[in-house]
Amino acid sequence: MSAEIRLFRCLQDNYGVLIHDSETGATAAIDAPEAAPVEAALKETGWKLTDILVTHHHHDHVGGIEALKSKYKCRVVAPAGEATKIPAVDETVREGDKVSVGKLSANVIETPGHTLGHIAYWFHGAKAAFVGDTLFSIGCGRVIEGTMDQMWDSLKKLRDLPDETAIYCGHEYTLANIKFALSIEGGNAALLARADEAKKQIDAGTFTIPVTIGEEKKANTFLRADAPEVAAAVGLAGAPANKVFAEVRERKNKF
Ligand code: ZN
Ligand code: FE
Repeated sequence: MSAEIRLFRCLQDNYGVLIHDSETGATAAIDAPEAAPVEAALKETGWKLTDILVTHHHHDHVGGIEALKSKYKCRVVAPAGEATKIPAVDETVREGDKVSVGKLSANVIETPGHTLGHIAYWFHGAKAAFVGDTLFSIGCGRVIEGTMDQMWDSLKKLRDLPDETAIYCGHEYTLANIKFALSIEGGNAALLARADEAKKQIDAGTFTIPVTIGEEKKANTFLRADAPEVAAAVGLAGAPANKVFAEVRERKNKF
């Protein structure tokens, strides 16, 4: 089994990504922000699109589905909780389900908060997780449909993935996230190192993702809501982690 992953930019600041099983030729797009960049990536790689795995219903993640499906006749897999808001769905999945892409296999992890039905796809064999708008590098998604508690629980589920798991998120927000995170914990050495690295990546015109869960655990303030330093930094020393998370997320909304 061997997985290849191709990452590319879409729309304003979205990421598109393909995962390809070199043994069977199967290729999945995780979300489809728009059709043209997905087609361009298929052309460059010579891969044929067999599946689209959707994380959530927002337009910047599903806008390209109909055009791609009519061209490639690919299967569209979507979260059960919001399948009615997503075009051309063939299969719905929920927590604990497995999705095959050729011989590659992904576990479905429900991560409500940004939207209520949001899911992530964890390809354990490929050591990669596609997390949509739940977790960003040094950030997390806005809590739009769910509650702060749901989002904190969802982030903890992703944090529990093996440290070596490569995280692919839905947007390039890293520099803005770092600016905010430094306003909370400017003394975090892992965050300062990440700030250096991300600036170099952006200056070089490359991507700031993927990033591993192990790295994010140390540098992402949202994943550190149960660290005493973060609680103290937002004036909530000793408070439960869900309260600290909510405070950090509120501050980011206003930043
Ligand atoms: Zn979204
Ligand atoms: Fe998005």
